[in-house]
Amino acid sequence: MFRKRASCYLQNVLYQTIDMTGTQIVCNELVNIDVDTFAPQYFKQEKPQLSATLRKFYSFCKRRTFGTFVASKQSPCHEADSSKNWNCCGQTFKEPSSIHRHVSRIHDTDIDQLTQSTFKVLLSQVENEATSQQQSTEKELVDFTSWISDTSHITDDQLHNGPGEVLLYYCYCQVVDPQLICDWQEALCEKLQLTGKVRVATEGINGTVGGTKVATDLYVKAMCSHPIFKIMEKEDFKTSSGGAECFSNLRVGVYKEIVPMGVDPVALSYRLAGTHLEPAEFHKEVEAILSKGDSCNDTILLDCRNFYESKIGKFSQCLAPNIRKFSYFPDYIDQNLNLFRDKKVLMYCTGGIRCERGSAYLRSKDVCKEVYQLKGGIHKYLEQFPEGFYRGKLFVFDERYAISANKDIISECMYCNSPWDQYQLCSTHFCFQLVLSCSACRQRGHTACCPTCQTKGQGQGEEPSATPPQREECECTNGRLRIPQDAL
Ligand SMILES: [Zn+2]
Ligand SMILES: [Zn+2]
Ligand SMILES: [Zn+2]
Ligand SMILES: [Zn+2]
Repeated sequence: MFRKRASCYLQNVLYQTIDMTGTQIVCNELVNIDVDTFAPQYFKQEKPQLSATLRKFYSFCKRRTFGTFVASKQSPCHEADSSKNWNCCGQTFKEPSSIHRHVSRIHDTDIDQLTQSTFKVLLSQVENEATSQQQSTEKELVDFTSWISDTSHITDDQLHNGPGEVLLYYCYCQVVDPQLICDWQEALCEKLQLTGKVRVATEGINGTVGGTKVATDLYVKAMCSHPIFKIMEKEDFKTSSGGAECFSNLRVGVYKEIVPMGVDPVALSYRLAGTHLEPAEFHKEVEAILSKGDSCNDTILLDCRNFYESKIGKFSQCLAPNIRKFSYFPDYIDQNLNLFRDKKVLMYCTGGIRCERGSAYLRSKDVCKEVYQLKGGIHKYLEQFPEGFYRGKLFVFDERYAISANKDIISECMYCNSPWDQYQLCSTHFCFQLVLSCSACRQRGHTACCPTCQTKGQGQGEEPSATPPQREECECTNGRLRIPQDAL
């Protein structure tokens, strides 16, 4: 494990170094130059002994050296004249490409020598830092095992068989070493034989895992006694029926954000989030909106999920953006700012996590009167109000696709328009669109997302591997507006 962590560490250093020294710009300029074409003797000899990460690191040093070398040949800038010139070997170069070509042809020995010394210096710095990290890691490793549930009193059978459950949770908090948490989660879930997805970032953790009830109970206990995540309570874990079979595998990873909105957590913190409303308070607010009817235009109920989620279930009278993924949400807000001006906005999503940073984003625009979010999301609301103002199914991101609280069906079969809300994947491989086609229409052969896709699918059986599998766009994906324009 240490080797993996040291290599991760080196990669982090790589990225940080690129950011810190500002050589990113230089690297971008050099993006078309392949360092291997400079024929460095050192590199060629050492190549077999260098690991992939070290080779990357060497390439990085080489690009950096090359950039610095080129920069040193730049003639002093005159303010009146913004065009750049380079002088080298008595020649003047006006284009970046021409000085690059010159340096790589004439000065490759210089570059190699400089690269080698830079490489050695940077590597020893990295090694020193990795050693000090290793020392702290060794200390942490002791804790690591103590964070894993004791299962000595539980039989293998109890972890495998018996009633199951799916947990959904998140926790925004400061995680100093996400890789350590990731390793721990992987070990913990494997021990408890849980499947699902766990995202770890410096801003917190987000997970949905399934297994037997015995296992999920132990998982909650392990989480609530962890030094970082003990701020969570048992109630912060939303539960639904299901089990390990709801996910095809276990995926634990370190990411930049615990929910992918595409905005750097450093630039926009979850701490800016809107005020939480308990399900009962939220219920009252929605009741007020509904009783005022159309005359109520000072409050907006905003569903911040994707279109296919709100299609099969939503709060009455909500505004449901036509977005395919959460990373389009900021664009949606930007393009529809006037909708929210001077309004009181009530936001909701599945379990509450998207609202945390979604509401923070909306608040950062400083146009709304107030921004509120449903605490615990639809999940917690339905526990208290199964026959409340949320109608239809609750979409979930696992093989169940949806869980139901009431019998309402609010969507239709796309082929015959009869009430239908059971999603299935498009029958054409590599399409991955969710299709609402009722059983009668399926029997008639309507199993794809659109006629184009259906035709493509018919051809695929005959020549299975003639063309490499691709995630193709079809009529429906082409027709979908990336930024919703029909929001109201
Ligand atoms: Zn020269
Ligand atoms: Zn139908
Ligand atoms: Zn399709
Ligand atoms: Zn289609």
